[in-house]
Amino acid sequence: MQNWKRFFQKHILERGYDYFETGSVLSLEKTENGYRAEVEGTEFYEVEIEMERGEVTDMFCSCPYAEDGNYCKHEAAVLFLIEGDFDNSRTDPKACSVLIFEDREKEQKALTEAVQKMTPDMLREFFIETAQQDETLKEKILLQYGTFGTEQIERLRTRIKDMGKVYRTAVNQMQFWDCEYDCDYDDEYDYDYDYDCDYNDGYGSRHDLEAAEFSYELCVFLDRYIPALLKRGFFEEAFELTNLILQESRAMIFEECYGEAGSVKSAVLKNWRDILSGCDENERQKIYRYLKSQRHGDYEDEISNFLIEEFHDKEVLAECLRKIDRLLRKTQKEQKQNPQGYDHSFCLISSRMDLMRKGGFPEKEIRAYRSKYRHLPEIRREEIQEVLECKDYRKAIAILQESRQLDRENDALIKRYNQQLIEIYRKLNDEEGLKTELLFKISNYMQHDLEAVRELKKLCSAAEWEQEFEKMLKSRQLVFFRLELLELEGQYDRLLAEILNRNSAAVMDKWEKTLREHFPDEVRDFYIAYVCRASKKTSDRSEYRKLAEYLRKISRLPGGEDLAKQIAAEWKVLYKRRPAMMDELRKAGF
Ligand SMILES: [Zn+2]
Repeated sequence: MQNWKRFFQKHILERGYDYFETGSVLSLEKTENGYRAEVEGTEFYEVEIEMERGEVTDMFCSCPYAEDGNYCKHEAAVLFLIEGDFDNSRTDPKACSVLIFEDREKEQKALTEAVQKMTPDMLREFFIETAQQDETLKEKILLQYGTFGTEQIERLRTRIKDMGKVYRTAVNQMQFWDCEYDCDYDDEYDYDYDYDCDYNDGYGSRHDLEAAEFSYELCVFLDRYIPALLKRGFFEEAFELTNLILQESRAMIFEECYGEAGSVKSAVLKNWRDILSGCDENERQKIYRYLKSQRHGDYEDEISNFLIEEFHDKEVLAECLRKIDRLLRKTQKEQKQNPQGYDHSFCLISSRMDLMRKGGFPEKEIRAYRSKYRHLPEIRREEIQEVLECKDYRKAIAILQESRQLDRENDALIKRYNQQLIEIYRKLNDEEGLKTELLFKISNYMQHDLEAVRELKKLCSAAEWEQEFEKMLKSRQLVFFRLELLELEGQYDRLLAEILNRNSAAVMDKWEKTLREHFPDEVRDFYIAYVCRASKKTSDRSEYRKLAEYLRKISRLPGGEDLAKQIAAEWKVLYKRRPAMMDELRKAGF
């Protein structure tokens, strides 16, 4: 296998190597003329490599990048794996098996003995030789023990900038195509709306892909080089490089890739903490001054938070608190003018409390601040959560009852409070409380489930239940559940009376199964009356078909067979001018 690397761009090759090294190639199988593999990336991709006489002739991958006609990193990863297999198969397998033992311990011993026999010079020579064949090992040695100075730092810096350039170029190219396509589209294809949508979707996902790649690369860079630099005491240099990475990642902020920029940002913040925990006071001060000068840029909040958390900077803290207070006043004013608009206050209050905690405010003071905003349901929600965590159920009930009053205009909240109260009363085995809340739930929020009714029944004495049940039947809110309630209670005579009263076949159909057991004659007669009435007004085929179905239903009920036949015979005389009806009757077997 030679020369396959020439198919790939350099950075794709590097990404492919990372994929190969981290074991992202999940499976590899030989095919008739090459290999097939599965690679884990953003999703699972299938890669096929075609080969002839040991050389790559063509390759495919199911990822969007490859589908655009590029050679992708998944293909590269698979080729790295295949190449390894090739090289191994070249060494004589028999020669290997003589030297490598079956028994691990024996092998370890033999290896130790062999190394012990080597002189320091032999060891060095062997080590250098090995490292020259192994890029990862080479880099590891140079990072840990090699000369490390301005030149090496400069190279790392260039590397970061190059990654940024690759990303920006890729993004700019996409925008260029996007724009050019739009012009075409206006002239010729303005009816083909779908095409435009498809195109934009593709653009968006490729864009995300690039951003995901870029942030992945930056994070890999941080992982690979920063800890090594810290081990060697290059704290300032490490800090400078992390800053450069943060700057480069800004390219993603403007491209609606906040998530990707965010993962780089949190990796950088973690590195900063590592740097601070190792460096001396002098370096610490330098970092502090630098960050303080940088805190009004893109990452204003993050840097300010970092200064507060790590340096306990009172000035920055006070400034941030003032800023939040200002925003909060503004939000409240807007809220007053437009009460329907979304209220951001809670978000601001939350972040202020967060800052107070980071700034070392006593918890009591933080709580006191929060209690000024108890009119906001979110604040009480937090309170409820806290008291529930301490299992102070009585206190939770008190806050919930209070909230029910305060938020009485908000149906969704009232419903939630009711549900929370039910759960608490269940835990406390408080039957009276539970009964009240279940009744509230039944009469306000009962939809299709009768669980609450069943639960309430269990809590009531027979006399109590009888009373509650009659109340429910009369309740206006439950008017649509009367039939369900009657069925649940097994009051079939009342159920029948109610259904006969409503006089609707659809309603009867729903309860037919229950009622035919107890009142088969009444059900049959109801349907007979219905079909006779309906046949007079019906005039289309689908209605005829339904009537014929009802006739079959009647004939399945006791004593119904003859009656159904009789009705059909009458219809055949009465409606002989309705051929569609005659047809449907025939089909139904009449
Ligand atoms: Zn691919």
